[in-house]
Amino acid sequence: MAEQDVIIIGGGIVGLAVAERLSRSGRHVTLLEKESSWAAHQTGHNSGVIHAGPYYKPGSLKATMCTAGNRSMVEFAREHGIPHEVCGKLIVATDQKELPRLQTLFERATANGAPSRLLGPEEAREYEPHVSTVGALRVETTGIIDYAAVSRRLAELATEHGADLRLGTEVVGVASTPDEVVVTHTNGEVRGGWLINCAGLQSDRVARMAGLEPEARIVPFRGEYYELVEHRRDLVKGLIYPVPDPELPFLGVHLTRMIDGSVHAGPNAVMALAREGYRWTDINAADTASTIVYPGFLRLASRNVVTGTKEIMRSFSRRLFASSLARLVPEVSTNDIVRAGSGVRAQAILRDGSLADDFIIQRAPRQVHVLNAPSPAATSSLEIAKHIAAELDA
Ligand SMILES: Cc1cc2nc3c(=O)[nH]c(=O)nc-3n(C[C@H](O)[C@H](O)[C@H](O)COP(=O)(O)OP(=O)(O)OC[C@H]3O[C@@H](n4cnc5c(N)ncnc54)[C@H](O)[C@@H]3O)c2cc1C
Repeated sequence: MAEQDVIIIGGGIVGLAVAERLSRSGRHVTLLEKESSWAAHQTGHNSGVIHAGPYYKPGSLKATMCTAGNRSMVEFAREHGIPHEVCGKLIVATDQKELPRLQTLFERATANGAPSRLLGPEEAREYEPHVSTVGALRVETTGIIDYAAVSRRLAELATEHGADLRLGTEVVGVASTPDEVVVTHTNGEVRGGWLINCAGLQSDRVARMAGLEPEARIVPFRGEYYELVEHRRDLVKGLIYPVPDPELPFLGVHLTRMIDGSVHAGPNAVMALAREGYRWTDINAADTASTIVYPGFLRLASRNVVTGTKEIMRSFSRRLFASSLARLVPEVSTNDIVRAGSGVRAQAILRDGSLADDFIIQRAPRQVHVLNAPSPAATSSLEIAKHIAAELDA
């Protein structure tokens, strides 16, 4: 075993970005992914937005990595010919009460180095003619991309640098000694000087496997999408977002023009009954039990009974989903939307029921664990990789 040998668990965008970065700098990388293709979970089921960073607390990892990641992701896409577009985004207040929060977002965007402007309703409609708003924030550097395509390119590059990337290989055990890490997987074992856990929805379990007790538990929240039928796509030019609730920032459906020209609407947020459960019928008893007995989830759920119930009702009702969208674009009606898949967010929740606010990247002897990497982690993935490379060199 050499100090240079690194084992990465997870072939989503974060694991693959780390593999590319470390193999480029001469380390011997083995990456283990349980599924048969790259980006099979969060990375392949998201909104495809290159975020610009107006939401995040200045100075946080999310803020710094999102702003830098916005630039590095666009550069990467340009260099490697990955279709993308920096189309900008409009965050729209639909009620006077939301205007102070819009102002806060503007201040955060400015502090985080994301160019943005506050707009009146008429100016907002110059960008999005069909929007209903009392005031909006225009963020210029937000873009769109296909993160699964980015992941596949990262895998190609890592392989060119000599990394050993293995699909269909699930990690089932980790043993760590002062000299090495031994990872047992479904096809054998591999030894290395470092373990990097980028297991997304399973990251807390992998951490526990490796002897760590993570401060937060992953609770899977499914986000369901609809899309606009083709002849109504012209209702949306770019990205139209609501003003987020600061307590539950991932709530609030938005309209997103995707890089393939379709317009996605969503996602909502309902508890998933399996960590990798993309439909209500995907049920994993062990996953569900571990969520519902977790004190952090119970506290979060009890504080948000009304909101949670509304999200569940919207999950079953196309009419309710359409009416949420109509708050942003009144012309959207039930007949304009059709179901378009879903994604599951790995949301880390602390024992007190609060959402882990920032990315959590925890170091242990010979190990680095990415324990909370929700949105904007796809945008920030190249920066997370840079951060982890620095941890190994420290
Ligand atoms: C609905 C939704 C919308 C989003 N929208 C955006 C957006 O617009 N912009 C943005 O920047 N971010 C967005 N995000 C967040 C973004 O998708 C994630 O932050 C990012 O994909 C995380 O990447 P990852 O590599 O950490 O996780 P994942 O992509 O989930 O990858 C983890 C991988 O680890 C593998 N794995 C797990 N356990 C094991 C094991 N034991 N052995 C081997 N392999 C294992 C899994 O199979 C999986 O492939 C969104 C997320 C969701 C769910």
